[in-house]
Amino acid sequence: MTDARTSAASRLAFRGAEILVRADSPLERGAADLDCAAAPLPDPLERVVFPSGPVSESYPQTVQAPDGWEWRPFRSVIGALPERDWIGAARALAYVGWRASTRFCGRCGAPNGDKPDEIARLCPGCGALAFPRISPAVLAVVRRGDRLLLARNASFKAGTWSVLAGFVEPGETLEGCVRREVLEEVSIEVEPRAYLGSQPWPFPDQLMVGLSAEWASGELAPDGVEIAEAGWFGPDDHPPLPMPGSLSRRLIDAAFSDIRSAGTRR
Ligand SMILES: [Zn+2]
Repeated sequence: MTDARTSAASRLAFRGAEILVRADSPLERGAADLDCAAAPLPDPLERVVFPSGPVSESYPQTVQAPDGWEWRPFRSVIGALPERDWIGAARALAYVGWRASTRFCGRCGAPNGDKPDEIARLCPGCGALAFPRISPAVLAVVRRGDRLLLARNASFKAGTWSVLAGFVEPGETLEGCVRREVLEEVSIEVEPRAYLGSQPWPFPDQLMVGLSAEWASGELAPDGVEIAEAGWFGPDDHPPLPMPGSLSRRLIDAAFSDIRSAGTRR
């Protein structure tokens, strides 16, 4: 039996943003079995074979899970597994999603082919090459003294708060994106400080990049469209946080830990 902690999966199956797991997988104990090499499945829509990694397949919504297996939202797997265990599956999901959305050439509209020597689409009509797309997005970990900026997105499920996030625009630096997003969403000016970490987030193709920032001026005024509520919080008086496993949660935990140890040193 596959041990998700020590061995890589040989075959992964996706249906949209769902992944096939054994029905008895102890997800909540961080031991989901993602390797579906033994599952009887029909021919997939798409198949991606990594040089050193799992075969990844995508299936249409009409394909039911075989007996003993079930489709689970991949996000719920991320929440339950350590990053080292789900990162290969995240890569696979991003690739199969990219393939499904590049069946036709974006330049001339001809059915796309595959470049034989690397993972890329090659149009037989006009020669256009298309590589898997990655969309960078920043997570802004904004501090004001011993308080951390958390906000509730209008689209989040009720009660969950997080750091502000936004997509990097063409021609923008990561630091510029932090300044713009924070100003647009809660009307304060901040000064970006340091890179904190990154995480692929294949819904469908984000690369989340965490940066710290310091409050510079202004008072919080949520835009009311994207951000419903925002506030400054300490390690002991914060609202419900994002699920474990996400970079946002890891950065929030680290910021609170830093605030706590700075308080002890004082
Ligand atoms: Zn073309």
